[in-house]
This record gives sequence, C-alpha cells and structure tokens, in this order.
Amino acid sequence: MSQTHDNAIPFTPLTIHSTELSAACPRAAKLRIDGRASNVTASALYTGALLDAACGYVHQYDEWARADFAMTYAVKWVEARTHAEGRVLSDAVVESQDKIVSNCTTLLLEYMRRFHHRFQQCSLVGVQTPIRWRHMFGPNHFESHLDLVLQDHDGVLGVGPNRLVVIDWKGTLQNPTHDYVVRNAQLMAYYGAVRWGEIMLGDEWVSMDTWPEVGLLHLPSLKPYARATTATNADGSTTKYSKGDTRPDQSILKWARFSPKRWPDMFEELAGKVKMIEQDIWPMRPDPVGCYVCDARDACPRFDWNSDTPQFEV
Ligand code: SF4
Repeated sequence: MSQTHDNAIPFTPLTIHSTELSAACPRAAKLRIDGRASNVTASALYTGALLDAACGYVHQYDEWARADFAMTYAVKWVEARTHAEGRVLSDAVVESQDKIVSNCTTLLLEYMRRFHHRFQQCSLVGVQTPIRWRHMFGPNHFESHLDLVLQDHDGVLGVGPNRLVVIDWKGTLQNPTHDYVVRNAQLMAYYGAVRWGEIMLGDEWVSMDTWPEVGLLHLPSLKPYARATTATNADGSTTKYSKGDTRPDQSILKWARFSPKRWPDMFEELAGKVKMIEQDIWPMRPDPVGCYVCDARDACPRFDWNSDTPQFEV
C-alpha cells in the first residue's frame, strides 16, 4: 500500500490534525481553525480537559492512591492552558466549578479502582504523546497527541499479548457506541500513524512500526447506573442491570479491533477527508443537539429571516 498519492495536486503541504478528520461537522472545525469559534470554555470542554489532565497525572507520576493530588494538578494545569490560549471559563463553569471537580474526582477514583490492577501490569509508553505521520497523504502531514500509550505484555487488557495499545480518553456526555468506534476517523488515523509514522519518546521521534490496538475509554461511564437498565452488548446480547450497578468493561473501554487487512480501505476513507480539506471544502453538518452546543454557532451561516439578510430587503 503506497502512502503517497500520485495524483495529489502540488501545493503547500497541510498539517492535518485529528480534530479535522473526526469533527462531526467539518464547518465547525474550519471555523475553529480560523479562530472564529467562541473563546469561552463551556462545562463539557472544561470537564473533558480536567479528566484528561487528571488521568494523565495518575499514569505519569504513578500516583494511584491520591485522586485529590491528581485533581489539584488538573485544575491548575487547565487554568494555565486556558489562560495561555486566551480563553475564559464560562459563567456556568465558574459557578459550578466545585461540583465539576467533585464529579471528576468521583470518576477518577473509579478509574483507579477499575483499571489500576490492569494498567500497572503494562509498561507506560507515554501520556499525551506527540505523534506525526509525515506525508500521510501526498505532501500533507498528520499531527496529533495520543492520550495514553501502553505496552500490554501479557494481554491483560484483553486484546492479546505484546500489543502496543493506544487509548483515547473521552469525556463526552454521550457514550460512543461500538458501531461508532469501529468507523471512527480519529482512531483510524492513530492506527495508521502508529504503523507508518512516529511518536515522540523523550526528545526523539521514534518509529514504532507496528499495528497498535486502539480504543476509546469513556470516563463518564465509570459512574454506576442511575436507574435499572438493559444494556446491549457488542455481540447483540442484552444484560439487565440494577440501579447502582457498575457498567461492564465493554461499556467503558471500547476497542476498535481494526484489521490490517482493512487498512487500504481505511486509508481511502481518511484520504477522502484530506482531499476535502485540500480543496477547502468544509460542509455544514447540522445536528439538533450539536448546533445548539456548537462553539462556532455564532460564526456559522444561517438562512432564516433573522440572519444577515435583512428581512425587508428582498
Ligand atoms: S452551528 Fe451546526 S452546522 Fe454550524 S458549524 Fe456548528 S455544528 Fe456545524
């Protein structure tokens, strides 16, 4: 499989990030790139950033006993980054910050309880590890960060022994379904970039030259069920849970289980997205909830009487 496209139109190379490949609405991604999205950090974004920073701290400093240490670090880290990026916390975040931190601490404690014994049997390769894939598509490069990279020597994570494992922490309210995970462009890009690109270890770019196992770990699903629930498993079977039961592993950590044999098709799928970016095509994909919470909403065209065409000029 060639990694380059012979038909690529020569032009200034682009740097593609995972957010551009995986954005539910390409227009929102473009408006963010252009700096036209709101600089207000809303609760969902703040919560996700706190959880990422806290989980990263736990792995990086091998601190599995004190969730409060990790959360104190996370609050300061997110505050510093928010400031550095010229962003501000929304009024809702400021008002409910204690509650958000408390909820995140609960999730972090559960993360430690559920996963420490397995993660400690793996070797930590990196946290927030930079990854790049030069000439991913024609002259273009891919760059991103991998939330968590582990070497699972004994197969304790259930995907086989001696696997390089990439886990993406997700703090979204909605739990990604298995059907979504197996088609996820962000995970596909990570899969290809680990195989064909390089990750930064210490101060060096290192080629891993292996197909990793990639998965999403949905942190909010670490909370027990708030009511009796019947859950559908990946194999289509169902299980009944009572209020207060913890969710099964497969509801929290979902593996893509990509096949190297399907890589040419995955690559074509990614290439299609990159072609659109090359040609500056960023379609709107409105979504009933997505548009309501979209941070680029104010800059996104709308076509009603209240929009930029004055009603009575027509
Ligand atoms: S408001 Fe809706 S259509 Fe517009 S950029 Fe946001 S998600 Fe996309």
